[in-house]
Amino acid sequence: MLTVEAAQRAVMGRVGPLPLRSRPLGEASGCVLGEEVLADLDQPPFDKSQVDGFAVRAADLRGDDRWLMLGEEIAAGRPPTRPLGPREAAAIMTGAPLPPGADAVVMIEKTQRVEGRVLVAAEGVRPGQNYLARGREIRAGEAVLRPGGRLNAAAIGLLASVGRTEVVVVPRPRVVVVPTGDELVEPDRVPGPGQIRNSNAAMLRALVLGGGADAEALPIAPDEPGPLAEVLGRGLAADVLLITGGVSAGTRDLVPGTLERLGVAPVFHKVRLRPGKPLWFGVGPPRSEAPGALVFGLPGNPVSGIVGFLLFVRPALDALAARTGGGPPITAHRLLRPCSHVGDRPTYHPARLVEAGDGPALEPLDWAGSSDLRTVAGADGFAILPEGEHTFEPGEIVNFLPLG
Ligand code: AMP
Ligand code: MG
Repeated sequence: MLTVEAAQRAVMGRVGPLPLRSRPLGEASGCVLGEEVLADLDQPPFDKSQVDGFAVRAADLRGDDRWLMLGEEIAAGRPPTRPLGPREAAAIMTGAPLPPGADAVVMIEKTQRVEGRVLVAAEGVRPGQNYLARGREIRAGEAVLRPGGRLNAAAIGLLASVGRTEVVVVPRPRVVVVPTGDELVEPDRVPGPGQIRNSNAAMLRALVLGGGADAEALPIAPDEPGPLAEVLGRGLAADVLLITGGVSAGTRDLVPGTLERLGVAPVFHKVRLRPGKPLWFGVGPPRSEAPGALVFGLPGNPVSGIVGFLLFVRPALDALAARTGGGPPITAHRLLRPCSHVGDRPTYHPARLVEAGDGPALEPLDWAGSSDLRTVAGADGFAILPEGEHTFEPGEIVNFLPLG
């Protein structure tokens, strides 16, 4: 059985960035840019007032005479109709173009308007004040974004400002979630005898969205070879196929055999951890324009699914999207209270982070085992307790796998 670290290497060794694609700007947020982006225009495209006030010639206000004649009014979006004459002021709004001849703007608060004339306060007026000169931010033809950076909200705005509606990026991975199990009913149903609600599909979808990928959940697949193969086959068109249930040792655990018959090459089955040991991983047949789907068979117990997702799937999503991360973001913390643990595998135990003076300390939570979502819903992640028999004292340092 592989250790967690060996299994992570086996996954990460088979994942690379998805092929570049042109995407609409509205779908590119958070993606890694795949092209150099050039500005099509100067920005600002004209000398632009940064305040509401009066466009002036600074030289007119060097002496004691602070009175100017009031000329035209220039609003944002309405270019001036004529140059500014000597000893003239044009009323100008924030964002409006300066008239030719003007070289400064005086804020409205420093002026007084009296019957066709403007009195400017007795303080220096510098050429260049209160406006942005054309091209001050960006020159036409200049590279404004380079490939490899992640598109944050400002970058999306910048792309819009240089006229881009599409952009070449490493696309968001597409994940298909397939819940399996004859006992499952959808959450809007009241379970009959022996049935339970499908909580994993909604949970995994939430994890996938939080991992910066797109998720689609397919309907529940029964534990029957034919219908199971049909649903899993559809999922192989995605970048990642996430299956829950059907990977353990029961007679109705048909997922591994069905995947192999569909041409998915198995890489490993079972990992040394708790909860989540029966995890299965393989790679689907190559697709027309992308490598084969990464196929994860997560055990059906919900907490096993979360742990498997955090350890193996989320880092793979990062790698597909070309985001650097290099694995789960494990941190180390002091224990808040004593904790004893016996186990033949490393155990991921639900825990809260509690502020304790000098940084957050770990509080392991009592839980009912790998189906206990209620406890994990109030946890911040998992304390990683090593295999063997251990008694941990308060203050001892323990590793932690965050949920968020
Ligand atoms: P399995 O991995 O199929 O053996 O399932 C292990 C346990 O997880 C069983 O108790 C299942 O009923 C439960 N389980 C499987 N799939 C789901 C699901 N989609 N939602 C909630 N529980 C599930
Ligand atoms: Mg099952």
